[in-house]
Amino acid sequence: MCLIDIAMVIGLTGQIGAGKTTVANILRKLGARIIDADLIGRQVVDNSAALLKKLTRAFGPEILDSSGKLDRRRLAALAFASEAGKRKLNDLVHPYLLRELRAQRRAAEKDHALVVIDAALLLFWEMDEEVDYVLVVHAGEKRRLERLTGRGISPRDARSRQRAQLPFKEFQKRADHVLMNHRDPADLERRLRKLLARIIPAIN
Ligand code: ATP
Repeated sequence: MCLIDIAMVIGLTGQIGAGKTTVANILRKLGARIIDADLIGRQVVDNSAALLKKLTRAFGPEILDSSGKLDRRRLAALAFASEAGKRKLNDLVHPYLLRELRAQRRAAEKDHALVVIDAALLLFWEMDEEVDYVLVVHAGEKRRLERLTGRGISPRDARSRQRAQLPFKEFQKRADHVLMNHRDPADLERRLRKLLARIIPAIN
C-alpha cells in the first residue's frame, strides 16, 4: 500500500566539508529517508560481479585479494594516482551507482513524505533536474578546511580535494536554497527546521 501521495525529494549537496552529512543526520532525525550516494558507490563496487569484472579489466588483477575479492585500498591507490585513473573509475562506477540510487529513490518515495538524496556530485550528474528542491549547504573555505583537518585529513589533501570540485558560484546558481553552516551545529539545525517549515509545512 502506498502511504504517501506525493513525496518531496530534496537533493542535498555542497562542497567537501560543507556539512552535507551533518544536515542529512538532522533530516534523518526528522523522519526523512536519506539516500547516501557515497554509501551506494561503495555498495555497488562490493556487490556487482559485472562491475568488478570491468574494474579488474581496467585496473588489473592486482585490485583483487588472494580470494578474488575486491581490495578497495588497492583500487583506490591505483585509481587515485592520476586524473585519468579517477576518470576511468568514475566512468565505470557511476552508471551502476546512479541506477541503484534511482531505484532506492523510487522505493523510498512510496513510504516517506521526505526523501533526501545526499550527493556531492548531484550537480555534476545533473540530478538537480530530477529533484523537487536543491539544498546546498555551505561554509567558508577556512571553516571547511578546519573541519576537514579536524576529521583527520591532511591540510594538503583537503586543499587538493577542494580544488577538484565545482566552484561555489555554480552551486549557488543551481540551488533553490543555500543553507549556511558557519556557526555551531545547533544553529544549523535551527535554520534547517525553519527552512523545512517553509517548504514543507506538514513535516514540522
Ligand atoms: P564530505 O564532503 O567530506 O562528505 P560533508 O559536506 O558531508 O563532507 P560533514 O561531514 O557534515 O561535511 O562535516 C565535515 C566535518 O565538520 C565533520 O567532522 C562534522 O562533524 C564537522 N561539522 C559540520 N558542521 C559543523 C558545525 N556547524 N560546527 C562544527 N563542526 C561541524
